[in-house]
Amino acid sequence: MFSRGHKLNSILFIRCPRCHEGAFIQRKVYDFSGLTSVRKSCPSCALNYHLEPSFYFGSMFVAYALGVAVMVAVIVMNHLLMESFSFLKAFWSIFVVLIVLAPYLNALSKIIWANFFFHYDPEWKVKYPIKK
Ligand SMILES: [Zn+2]
Repeated sequence: MFSRGHKLNSILFIRCPRCHEGAFIQRKVYDFSGLTSVRKSCPSCALNYHLEPSFYFGSMFVAYALGVAVMVAVIVMNHLLMESFSFLKAFWSIFVVLIVLAPYLNALSKIIWANFFFHYDPEWKVKYPIKK
């Protein structure tokens, strides 16, 4: 399921959508020295990650969907674990979970967005050799 060639491999490990080897973002996800920024190109296969200026603006739709999914999951967990539902407890638990997961969700939304447009190529080493 997570083997190389499957989109989940690229998404969950935040790697290049074409070769599934190169790093996709500049820094580690929880490195707070800046916002999650996408590299210009893949260090392994030299795929240009930016098809056009502001290419990753569209990832905000993915981030919204991920945020809603996390919110629903937290509400369900709250409902299952707590004896009585409290709107205030649900609100604060959603708030804390979203704050903690924000850097990962940000990176996840960008790699999911990139996987809409780039696809795994098993012959990338032959087709796109990096010139040194
Ligand atoms: Zn690559």
